[in-house]
Amino acid sequence: MPPSSAVAGQIVLKPKRAQPFFGRHPWVFAGAIDRVDGAPTDGAVVDVMSNVGTFVARGLFNSHSKIRVRLYSWDESAVLDEAFFRQRLQRAIDLRHDVLKLNTAPDSAYRVAFSEADQLSGLVIDRYGEWAAVQFNSFALAERQEMIGKIVQETLGVRGVYRKIEKGVGKLEGVTLVDGLLCGEPPPAEMVVSENGLKFAVNLVEGQKTGYYLDQRDNRTAVAKFCAGKRVLDAFSYSGGFGVYAARAGASEVVCVDSSEGAVMLAMRNAELNGLPQLTFTKNDVFDELDSMVAAARKFDVVVLDPPKFARDQHALPQALRGYRRLVQQGLKLLDRDGILVMCCCTGLVTMEMLEEVIAQTAVGEKRDFQFLDRRGPAADHPVSATCREGAYLKCVIGRVG
Ligand code: SAH
Repeated sequence: MPPSSAVAGQIVLKPKRAQPFFGRHPWVFAGAIDRVDGAPTDGAVVDVMSNVGTFVARGLFNSHSKIRVRLYSWDESAVLDEAFFRQRLQRAIDLRHDVLKLNTAPDSAYRVAFSEADQLSGLVIDRYGEWAAVQFNSFALAERQEMIGKIVQETLGVRGVYRKIEKGVGKLEGVTLVDGLLCGEPPPAEMVVSENGLKFAVNLVEGQKTGYYLDQRDNRTAVAKFCAGKRVLDAFSYSGGFGVYAARAGASEVVCVDSSEGAVMLAMRNAELNGLPQLTFTKNDVFDELDSMVAAARKFDVVVLDPPKFARDQHALPQALRGYRRLVQQGLKLLDRDGILVMCCCTGLVTMEMLEEVIAQTAVGEKRDFQFLDRRGPAADHPVSATCREGAYLKCVIGRVG
């Protein structure tokens, strides 16, 4: 039985704390709450009320999360049932299919729903060919997993839906689920999806995140333009996305570096699938590998740096910025004159301005001229809601280094 869609309680806000939620921010933190009326269980539907008793919004409750209520509707007559979530998902699908006109062929891959950006706080859905991967980042939606799995399978027409749970979500949200088949047929160990005419192997069961980094799709295309006849370094390569695009574009040499054995194997497989012998692979820590390359006076024409998230909270921000500074410094040292630096950053707390500042200061420190050519974000199937700009995380800066 899925949890009931009946309103089980009221969350009354402290005086003067309702403004962000009238402004449709979807996260109600514990600090804004005065009291809980009724006895809603975790995952139940609740109404968020102002201190004078005005209805603000309807959402799902979780006493174990810092986000006590995730808001889904500002309409008092909304019922948060299967039809409601089906409609939300359909609207997300319509964006990808009808508005963005993404490739939706049976071997295509794209993000179907992106949490707050699609008014589905805590739910991420990626489609990989004939399967979908669903990430539950909210306890209340994890409680509704069967209903959501069914909707996903029906609306997308996929053969199966696989559940992925991100590390740390258990602690943040009290989600006890683990990765596994949600409904339909189990995915094959290797699926091959097509992205801009290139083939990429995706392993839903073993892969990082939901299996592949879909957000970098357009950035890979943007970077490939600079790679014909060039020596390219793809650092933090995972499936070799940037490197494979660079090789197809005619790079003379592509060096992929990643510390994960599985990632290196995957990138090798992708080079093979696309018949691109220019790629070479090194399994090592990028910071160490780049230091050795600098010491050996290696030079590249294009350096792509796409590290994982460096900070989850404000506390870790200074350390994260030091990490980015060090990478930029190493990248600059490895670039020949008039080379191209591609610096990616998926730490949401680091803004584009901060990243530009890191690059600008480091370039001055290294006595290298730097021209910003392109400042980019994720592909459009990773939109950002105007009422929850915390969802803007990926930055990709491309510049020429003199
Ligand atoms: N550029 C990739 C995505 C990179 S995700 C793409 O286009 O698909 C980040 C990658 O960095 C992961 O594969 C992870 O294994 C790797 N990684 C994390 N820390 C690392 C480190 N210190 N050295 C090398 N690789 C690292």
